[in-house]
Amino acid sequence: MTSIIETIKAKVDVAEEIGLVVALQKSGKALKGLCPFHNERTASFYVFAESQTWRCFGCNEGGDIFAFVQKQQGLEFREALYYLAEKASVPVEDQGSRDPEAEREASATRERMRKLNEDALLWFHQMFLRSQEAAGARAYAKKRGISSDSVLSFALGYAPDQWEALSHYLLGQGYSERELVMGGLARERMDDQKGEYGGGVYDYFRDRLIFPIRDIRGRVIGFGGRALGEGKPKYLNSPQTLLFEKNSVLYAIDMARDAIKQAHQVVIVEGYVDAVIAHQYGTKQTVACIGSAITEKHIQQLKKLTRQVTLALDPDAAGSAATEHGIQEALRTFDRIVVPVPLPSGRTEGQKRNGQYGSRKASDPHGIIRLEEQVDAEINVLKLPDGEDPDEVIQRDLPSWLYAVAHPQPLIDYYFVVKTADLDLREPEGKAEAAKRLLPVIGMINDRIKRDDYMRKLATMIRSDERSLHEELQRVLRSQKTQSVEFSNTRPKVLRETAGQPRQEDAEPDWISDNGESSTGSQSAAQTRARALDRNRGNKLQWEDYLIGLLVQNPGLNPHVCGILNDSDFAGTDTRELYHILNSVYQRASSPSNQPFEQFVPSELLTTVARVQKCVESETSRDGAGLVKEAVQCATRLKRTRLLQLNTELSYLIREADQASDKASIGQLQLRQLEICQQLRTLNSAMHLHG
Ligand SMILES: [Zn+2]
Repeated sequence: MTSIIETIKAKVDVAEEIGLVVALQKSGKALKGLCPFHNERTASFYVFAESQTWRCFGCNEGGDIFAFVQKQQGLEFREALYYLAEKASVPVEDQGSRDPEAEREASATRERMRKLNEDALLWFHQMFLRSQEAAGARAYAKKRGISSDSVLSFALGYAPDQWEALSHYLLGQGYSERELVMGGLARERMDDQKGEYGGGVYDYFRDRLIFPIRDIRGRVIGFGGRALGEGKPKYLNSPQTLLFEKNSVLYAIDMARDAIKQAHQVVIVEGYVDAVIAHQYGTKQTVACIGSAITEKHIQQLKKLTRQVTLALDPDAAGSAATEHGIQEALRTFDRIVVPVPLPSGRTEGQKRNGQYGSRKASDPHGIIRLEEQVDAEINVLKLPDGEDPDEVIQRDLPSWLYAVAHPQPLIDYYFVVKTADLDLREPEGKAEAAKRLLPVIGMINDRIKRDDYMRKLATMIRSDERSLHEELQRVLRSQKTQSVEFSNTRPKVLRETAGQPRQEDAEPDWISDNGESSTGSQSAAQTRARALDRNRGNKLQWEDYLIGLLVQNPGLNPHVCGILNDSDFAGTDTRELYHILNSVYQRASSPSNQPFEQFVPSELLTTVARVQKCVESETSRDGAGLVKEAVQCATRLKRTRLLQLNTELSYLIREADQASDKASIGQLQLRQLEICQQLRTLNSAMHLHG
């Protein structure tokens, strides 16, 4: 049975689809163009019609048509599936247990709600532009500095000071009272005599300036209303509806989407007017987080567009609990990347302290590789003059605003100030407390050089010895939930036992070798199966199935693998998406979750889940250490295959560029090839280490 994914891929051409958004030109058998995901002058974005894949050798993004659509449009897998299915004229049938009839009905209702919102928007907008009653609203917008262009592009509206104006209009358009209430545009009137509902409906928004709120694809999902008279509350947003989910709404996200990707930054402000004014003055990468503090759902949407989040905080709230909550939420929701950190020889404090790494000499450069988990995001803070909102700053002093946006304060600098504001740093207790609060923060810094800089800064700040702070930092890092794996050169006992037979110490383990052929006589179960997989199915996707199967069965293996592989290392559309889901489920679960994994999987991928589980059916008897090794080996193998493939692609492209005497491309591609070779070497030595 061909899956719907395969059917779609067979019908939609990668080059055609990408060609809609990227100007592609022929380059040998490939096509190339300027990458839509990073800024570049020389094209390093290639589309391979033969394999129906694409790759950017500048920013390392790549994959199939699904990966492109998801990334380019910021869509979830399921949304991309629906989008592409429509293009391919392939009906998407629900393959899961969900009731198809109910799904169809729900989707029809959502469509109807969208239409309702559109109609309401047009009405509000016309009111604002033309009605006498809206004079106050127009004056208010003008007073706040909103230009008439912005009024049109944001489709600002006005809800008149009447009880039934909008309801009356919409009922006349054929909507029912129930639909108006469901859509959050009207409330049910209480019948005073009977003391129950049923006395008709009245408008939800009255005498308010209306800000239509759209989703990332530009569809109206709800409204925000600013009171113009004495109405309370000052800001009123649509109630929770089928379309409007309060704590995930980002105002202006539809208009900011492209700018965010281009600027590699999103600026988060708090008010509607702040966002409108920011856009009006050219800071189009701005969204407003309205009605609630920053939540995980906000960040989930944003992280598909950028890794740099700039918080333009309310100056009064700086350092407040809400701000801190937002920052923590952002840190928690961004992906973790696990980076291999070679511990410098002779400076391995941990090694000296507990001596658990055994026989390896401290001077050996390959002694230990530690995997550290770090937040894959840059979160920083835009500091505004005291007491001023962004819209005021922008209009009073645009250059300062633009400078602040381009040079936001790193979160860590912000923390240095905020977290020590209440401490007396001359006293020993104050110093100790400062270290206690700041070390975990410093530990989150990705860049080791930067990290050392901040260690120095902290040491100076509290006049402490840098080396003892470093030791303290190591302790903090270990006690945090950093899933670090130590690859020591001493093979763990368990593994030696499960290997069954003695093996030659220095031979390359045969699971490394590309063709799966054995080079030594070692015959661990894994190796036998590895070759069986290769020989019998002759399909490298089998390896992806096998690994995903292991991960589904043992979620705890996740941190051991996520440092080695990222989404784009997967060749299968379905396995890539499952890997993505596994990672996000694992990261989100602060406490172990009892919910079955299937619950997080779109119904279209349930068959894949069943397939991968079948792949590991016989694995239940393995113990923890054996499983970890198995998973790490499998991931390493996949990574290696991927790197070799990249290498082949590069060699080909370099040849092509050479024939075309395209010097700029040759240089760029060769540089990338060097990196790939370096990565391959590192991978090989890591495999020798724990092989
Ligand atoms: Zn790129």
